[in-house]
Amino acid sequence: MHGTVLHAPGDIRFEEREDPKILKPTDAILRITATCVCGSDLWPYRGVNQIKQPTPIGHEYVGVVEQVGADVRNVKPGQFVVGSFFASDNTCEICLAGYQSRCIQCELSCQGGAQSELIRIPLADGTLVATPEAPDAELIPSLLAASDVLGTGWFGAVAADAGPGKTVVVVGDGAVGLLAILASRELGAERIIAMSRHESRQALAREFGATDIVVERGDEGIARVKELTGGYGAHSVVEAVGTEASMAQAIGCTRPGGHLGFVGVPHGIEVSGGVLFNTELHWHGGPAPVRRFLPDLIDRIWRREINPGRVFDLTLPLAKVADAYRAMDERRAIKAMLVP
Ligand SMILES: [Zn+2]
Repeated sequence: MHGTVLHAPGDIRFEEREDPKILKPTDAILRITATCVCGSDLWPYRGVNQIKQPTPIGHEYVGVVEQVGADVRNVKPGQFVVGSFFASDNTCEICLAGYQSRCIQCELSCQGGAQSELIRIPLADGTLVATPEAPDAELIPSLLAASDVLGTGWFGAVAADAGPGKTVVVVGDGAVGLLAILASRELGAERIIAMSRHESRQALAREFGATDIVVERGDEGIARVKELTGGYGAHSVVEAVGTEASMAQAIGCTRPGGHLGFVGVPHGIEVSGGVLFNTELHWHGGPAPVRRFLPDLIDRIWRREINPGRVFDLTLPLAKVADAYRAMDERRAIKAMLVP
């Protein structure tokens, strides 16, 4: 088979690799139907995270089960499935509490790199969710979005306690931020303020349910949000970037007693004890337990209630994966879908 391997910063190759095999009786092998490039893939691509050896990459996927190990019961060959970046048993106490991303048996489900033709998924019974039947082609982008960016944006909105009567601020206009807006709307938020200065992203933010757009950043952005919220700040804030500046922005936009949901992978963020203590916020975040939300998200997509696949504004053949990275690195694309 062929798969994507990151050799060095900026050096991404689609190359011949060994076919994955069942290693444990709880594994499954999937034939990838669609995969994509994540904002977090850009960290190693840009050399921010060190690459010690050529590394298979990609962690978002939908596909068809090709083979299962002897102990797999919940999915079978031929089924179309959605998974996410962490494999989880979905039976331990942590999973049952909804934190599958920290499952007691948790491992990365994407060590083989999902930007490939085939992938081995550990703990297949707990990790994969089958769709009712083979999906129509038009649903595939949305199902693919569910495997990470929708699930992550949804967790951000839940962690921020978005809901009826709430004003939500979303910091970050990448795919996760945009889908946190969609999630906030679905959860019933009254007002949703998107912080974005890119026109095409603002348009999608509005389509997903943003009621206000704030283009200012830093102290000016915080002042603008305060102005829009009667001087209080928002009840609920989703941080969907992971930089020090975006976290400071998110903290500054949350009212005392409010909820801050942070789902951007942190790079260089330090929060002092004084800030932790004095802001009086509810802090909740981390790697999203996407698996918790998958059945509900698949259901909403299946009934065509939501169309999160709108975040893909570029589709390329998987063999052109290097072009997809370039387009996202240069911010020419919000998110690139890859089809083998
Ligand atoms: Zn578990």
